[in-house]
Amino acid sequence: MSLIVVGSMAFDDIETPFGKSNRIVGGAATYIAWCASNFTEVRQISVVGGDFPSEELNALRDRGVNLEGVQIRKDEKSFYWAGRYHMDMNTRDTLVTELNVLGDFKPVVPDSYQDCEFLMLGNLAPSVQLSVISQLKSRPKLVAMDTMNFWMEVALDELKELFTKIDVLLVNDSEARQLSGEFSLVKAAAAIANMGPKYLIIKKGEHGALLFHGNEVFFAPALPLEEVFDPTGAGDTFAGGFIGHLAKTRDISFNNMKTAIIVGSAMASFCVEKFGTQRLREISHQDIHERLHQFVELVNFDIALV
Ligand code: AMP
Repeated sequence: MSLIVVGSMAFDDIETPFGKSNRIVGGAATYIAWCASNFTEVRQISVVGGDFPSEELNALRDRGVNLEGVQIRKDEKSFYWAGRYHMDMNTRDTLVTELNVLGDFKPVVPDSYQDCEFLMLGNLAPSVQLSVISQLKSRPKLVAMDTMNFWMEVALDELKELFTKIDVLLVNDSEARQLSGEFSLVKAAAAIANMGPKYLIIKKGEHGALLFHGNEVFFAPALPLEEVFDPTGAGDTFAGGFIGHLAKTRDISFNNMKTAIIVGSAMASFCVEKFGTQRLREISHQDIHERLHQFVELVNFDIALV
């Protein structure tokens, strides 16, 4: 049971109505790795510049994350992203995207990664995601991918090619609407299923997530939290919890995917409690267990059906 994670490792500047971070470490693959390593062995594929702190890489190594597939370009700068959240904390504006090392990133899948059963393609250029798939000698048991509106605008053809090669697509509600041209999420899911993905997860921020497969649909709530400090990385953390649980259990049935989106929601609820990856670094298996229990209580009710 092991998992390849592909995605950005970055410096982020985040502004929320409640505070500001100063160049903290983020990136889709960073969040996914911190989260999924609670459940399974993670093998990372990414690229960073010489400015990326070695302590950050060591912290991931100490956690058991294999970094053989992370290229370090000593004379270049890491990917940099800055975003500002609106008062509702569900929507944000991207202020700056500096691709730097990501601009011409050519991922190389190490030989030692070839036997991986699970592949999580975090948000990155679709051409990079495609390149990883094509380097794998045998198809993983499950391939999941995340993407964003930006790639729908600049690389729709490559995205559509990817959709025919993956099993699970994770997008948020506005991205599902943009991709399908449908306002109804049920119609959007049907339209996206026609593009290839067998399973579709539509994330709705503080309103939970929907899992679609054929005519079936399942809903996982988000935990109502008193305070949301920083939503950055919540989607990536959700993805890490989802695929981490599937990799741990090696069961890719629809039923187990229902559990996996609850695990994803539980992990995302930790992520937003502090800036950046801070909260994900602190939590123990006991904390995760207790939070999952809270989810069971949140949706547990008896109803007499006659
Ligand atoms: P999320 O809040 O789950 O959408 O993910 C936020 C993370 O995505 C941040 O840590 C950013 O560094 C990273 N990110 C933002 N834009 C991009 C992009 N165009 N490509 C790759 N990673 C990105």
